Amino acid sequence: MLTAHAKGESMNLTDKISKLKKEKKAIILAHNYQRPEIQDIADYIGDSIELSRKATQETQAEIIVFAAVDFMAESAAILNPTKKVLLPTLGARCPMAQMLTVDEIKRQKTHYPNAPVVLYVNTLASAKAYCDVCCTSANAVEVINSLDADTILFGPDRNLAEYVAEETGKTLIPIPEWGFCPTHLLFQPEDVTVLKLQYPDAVVMVHPECSAEMRRVADFIGSTSKMCSYARESKAKTFIVGTEEGILHRLRKENPEKQFITAYKEAVCPNMKLTTLDRLYMALKEEKHVVRVPEVIAKKARAALDRMLAINH
Ligand code: SF4
Repeated sequence: MLTAHAKGESMNLTDKISKLKKEKKAIILAHNYQRPEIQDIADYIGDSIELSRKATQETQAEIIVFAAVDFMAESAAILNPTKKVLLPTLGARCPMAQMLTVDEIKRQKTHYPNAPVVLYVNTLASAKAYCDVCCTSANAVEVINSLDADTILFGPDRNLAEYVAEETGKTLIPIPEWGFCPTHLLFQPEDVTVLKLQYPDAVVMVHPECSAEMRRVADFIGSTSKMCSYARESKAKTFIVGTEEGILHRLRKENPEKQFITAYKEAVCPNMKLTTLDRLYMALKEEKHVVRVPEVIAKKARAALDRMLAINH
């Protein structure tokens, strides 16, 4: 609960951010898992693919402040080489993205020389530079179906690899074998069973980064953007949500007449929550932290991202 003083402070900060944003021709992009106050001040809220598109479409903006984690800001910088991309908190790093190294990709390529490499956007630019095409959780099935290959090296999320293999009937070799999102791993079907006793009519929505056991109790499996459209179009009134709790703010805002319950209260991504209004303000004011990707890496990673964007209009 904010005190009256704290509320005043945050309002001031909000005004200051809006003013600076105009002066500097900046836009703020915020991921669905960001804090509510960051989502509220952002120009666009979305998942990785929605934000990647926005970053390329915003031709007037000179500065892009990316309220998210490292790999997303890196992708924005790769796709917008002429703009200044800022990551408000240097330490906001996705642990899953750090799990796949270039050495591991090269090692697996020696075992499967003919298999294309498809990487989830949750990877560092250096890894993207070694893949054939990128994907997000929203378009992974479409990207894999578009390939003329039955065996594919896929990383770094093992759960997403399993889900996409089930959906496409293709063989996906997970690289590394054990990649995972520590936040989505916290969801357990037992918690859903208990919630279903309390909300028997609730629809269960689960992110494909969750375990196979969680996918089995789901009525709907999809990315955060797909969850938003599903909730909007569904006639159901109550939803149990199996993804990072930040999405609840957007779901509630877009569907005030519906009820959204997290499948596990502690499922919070600490890295996504590192962006505060204070840090956002300082980032804009001092134009920090500039995300730079060496052109030799950016060029190859851009090709992989462009291929994804071309498949998924
Ligand atoms: S929720 Fe998981 S995949 Fe997303 S940024 Fe956090 S750790 Fe990475």
